[in-house]
Amino acid sequence: MANARQSNFMALIVQKYGGSSVGNPERIKNVAKRVAKYRAKGDQIVVVVSAMSGVTDNLIKLAKEIMPLPTEREMDMLLATGEQTTIALTAMALHSLDLKAVSLTGSQAGIVTDDVHTKAKIQHIAPKQVHALLDAGNVVIVAGFQGQTSAGHITTLGRGGSDLTAIALAAALKADLCQIYTDVDGVYTADPRIVPGARKLDEISYDEMLELASLGAKVMQSRSVEFAKNFGVIFEVRSSLNDNPGTIVKEETKNMEDVVIRGVSLDKHQAKVTLVAVPDQPGVAARIFKALGDASINVDMIVQNISHGAGKPATDLSFTIDKPDLLKTRKVIDGFKAEIGYREAIADENIGKLSIVGVGMRSHSGVAAKMFETLAREGVNIEMISTSEIKISVVIELTKGEQAMKAVHAAFLE
Ligand code: ADP
Ligand code: ASP
Ligand code: MG
Repeated sequence: MANARQSNFMALIVQKYGGSSVGNPERIKNVAKRVAKYRAKGDQIVVVVSAMSGVTDNLIKLAKEIMPLPTEREMDMLLATGEQTTIALTAMALHSLDLKAVSLTGSQAGIVTDDVHTKAKIQHIAPKQVHALLDAGNVVIVAGFQGQTSAGHITTLGRGGSDLTAIALAAALKADLCQIYTDVDGVYTADPRIVPGARKLDEISYDEMLELASLGAKVMQSRSVEFAKNFGVIFEVRSSLNDNPGTIVKEETKNMEDVVIRGVSLDKHQAKVTLVAVPDQPGVAARIFKALGDASINVDMIVQNISHGAGKPATDLSFTIDKPDLLKTRKVIDGFKAEIGYREAIADENIGKLSIVGVGMRSHSGVAAKMFETLAREGVNIEMISTSEIKISVVIELTKGEQAMKAVHAAFLE
């Protein structure tokens, strides 16, 4: 492999540009200018791009106008077109600056996935073609968010999946640097669009970033952070609109525990499903969650209440899922209604999951009490609670989500 260290090139850099960073022709030209600057220094550049902002959402809307629950294979075929548009446009923008550039789809870049359409996992990457093109002096532009099964079917990697493409490619290519360019200056203590007092972090540990990302901070796709942690890919989240230094995401260091709470996140894309009067017997929960798991539905929080009343013991079982999975969930739970014999299923889409995250929580006490007191003062009712060593999450009414987020951020971080 002729990578940066073995040849005269200064560095091999993977740069990922998200939807808003390639949102119009002007922005794409700006991306090309930034790439050209690095190229002028002699660096080898692999560019990963998302679909232009709004494109993926529009494609999903279009599909739903044809049928409410399209097959996931055809969804992938459709959604992959978004990124295919931007790779070609980005290559053209580089050509117009007289740079050699070649665009590749995920499969051309050697990204092989399993066959779980719309949420596929990368199995391996064979970047032969990427290396060959880099060695021939090209900027290589790879379509984010997509791959191909070993049987040749196009897959996608879950929403926000271009982050994963970039990090997985950085690992496979042993890149010297992985930069995630987006529309904010880095990772903040909370979404700066919701919390005006949010501060940019200079660095954050993989574990904290992973929790924040999986709990609603969409600045990074959570699976991509998991991948980075597993393969030790250090990356920087930074703005495509300026040259400010961003946030470095890396392994935890000693002094990180001095900070109790690193950040606050709010997930508005969850729904709560309650199965009322589920027979309280061994094996029932296993049957329910196995069926959901088999349908690739990610269940997050689970709460079981013992219901009162005469007759056979029964419980109410509530769990949260991603909102887009609600229709599929309904189908699955309708499917086992007769067999399991719960009374009814209630779906609540008006929920938000508010979380605080920080590795310092391990060594500091009283954090939950402070969070709950803050919510009480705001008149926010807590519907569900879940904790881990480094996070506390609560399910609350969606309409009070932003107010609660601001209050909790002020209590811990301002
Ligand atoms: P891209 O299209 O570049 O992938 P995303 O829209 O997926 O960008 O993610 C960037 C957005 O993430 C920001 O515009 C911001 O509103 C949101 N965001 C949520 N939480 C955070 C946070 N803690 N720090 C920074 N941005 C955040
Ligand atoms: N275009 C895809 C999405 O909107 C992937 C990405 O942007 O990372 O989810
Ligand atoms: Mg994103």
